[in-house]
Amino acid sequence: MKRQERADRIGDILDRIYPRPPIPLEHDDPFTLLIAVLLSAQTTDAQVNRVTPPLFAKASGPATMAALPEHEIHALIRTCGLAPGKARNIKRLSQLLLVEHGGKVPQDMAALEALPGVGHKTASVVMVQAFGVPAFPVDTHIHRLARRWQLSRAKNVEQTERDLKKLFPSSDWGKRHLQMIYFGREYCPARLHDTKACPICSWAAAKNHSGL
Ligand code: SF4
Repeated sequence: MKRQERADRIGDILDRIYPRPPIPLEHDDPFTLLIAVLLSAQTTDAQVNRVTPPLFAKASGPATMAALPEHEIHALIRTCGLAPGKARNIKRLSQLLLVEHGGKVPQDMAALEALPGVGHKTASVVMVQAFGVPAFPVDTHIHRLARRWQLSRAKNVEQTERDLKKLFPSSDWGKRHLQMIYFGREYCPARLHDTKACPICSWAAAKNHSGL
């Protein structure tokens, strides 16, 4: 089967399983989404959703966040992994938004990536989920699924992103990103298992995919 045919069939299956995948991180606007995505590194979405309500009750925009002492931000997010660095980045990022972007989250990939603690994946999530601008955030989970499903042979997330963008229409990128995240969480156990029971790997996986 050609790679494009495989992608189309996988798209149909994902649409059937997750017709309207919700955004898993709770937020009210681009700023709160940006902070939530930044917090999600090395942390589960559920954990982020537990810390953000008290954090946003204190500071829900760049001005109030920049005014919070770093130790106070840290105290509010300390149950997330890498909390000291995240607290520092949240404070600096909020200050930069005020000074350089008029207190608004820029709708611009390069400007987002220039903010402290914001990498390409985080910037992509904000572009597609907050602004509706086509972007395909690829993390290690999506990278692994794309290889298992023979949608990409890339060795790194950058090339996987390029491959996936060619296979799916840009209007679907945000949805496909979420669907693949949900699929991986729901279907892919950490241990060896029977790939024949998987709705996608049963027909799309590489021969050497052992279900790990
Ligand atoms: S076979 Fe297993 S690892 Fe592969 S996609 Fe299906 S559930 Fe995930």
